[in-house]
Amino acid sequence: MCGDVRCHWATWFRAHYDHDKAKRDPTWLQNWGSDHTRLVDSRANELEEDGYTIYLEGQNRFSLTGSTGVMIAGCPDIVAVRDGAALVIDCKTGKSKTADEYQVLTYMLCLPHVAKPYSRLPLSGLLQYNYHSLEIASTRVDERLRSHFREVMQIAGGTEPPAKRPSGSECRFWDITALDCPERDDSYNAPPVRTDALF
Ligand code: SF4
Repeated sequence: MCGDVRCHWATWFRAHYDHDKAKRDPTWLQNWGSDHTRLVDSRANELEEDGYTIYLEGQNRFSLTGSTGVMIAGCPDIVAVRDGAALVIDCKTGKSKTADEYQVLTYMLCLPHVAKPYSRLPLSGLLQYNYHSLEIASTRVDERLRSHFREVMQIAGGTEPPAKRPSGSECRFWDITALDCPERDDSYNAPPVRTDALF
């Protein structure tokens, strides 16, 4: 579920089929893993010093199955509880994008349904990047978000595949290979085209 997703085929496909994931460069994965762990740990330590009770990664893992049969699973990096309120945090080592906000909003939407304590606590969100953070107010979990969420779940659980919308900027975020999606657009990292003929 994501605000800047234009190609819902990918969501539909992943909900219906197992697929071979595009291979990531193992060095990239290793670096990402250690940078991410460092960021999560340092944020968690700060919050603990501020008197929060901290729940980390595996402790926050959840999965939910809706009426369409689609399962949604998630694992917020940190849930921090203090003074009768909870803060749902995801740590990102890359550039910020709209999809990050929707990821945290999805956690805020789902957690009250999977863990009893969270159904009684007001939940707000936070995106922690390397050099800045972004607060996500609890009021953003509103009827508009719920209805958007339901819409995406209906598409994902539907029998008919939605249209594909290949674009370099979006395809690069999906791990679907060209074998499953021949329309996959890998142009994002391609070298720029020379324009000598124009200027
Ligand atoms: S690879 Fe691109 S076109 Fe194919 S499903 Fe993913 S986003 Fe859509």
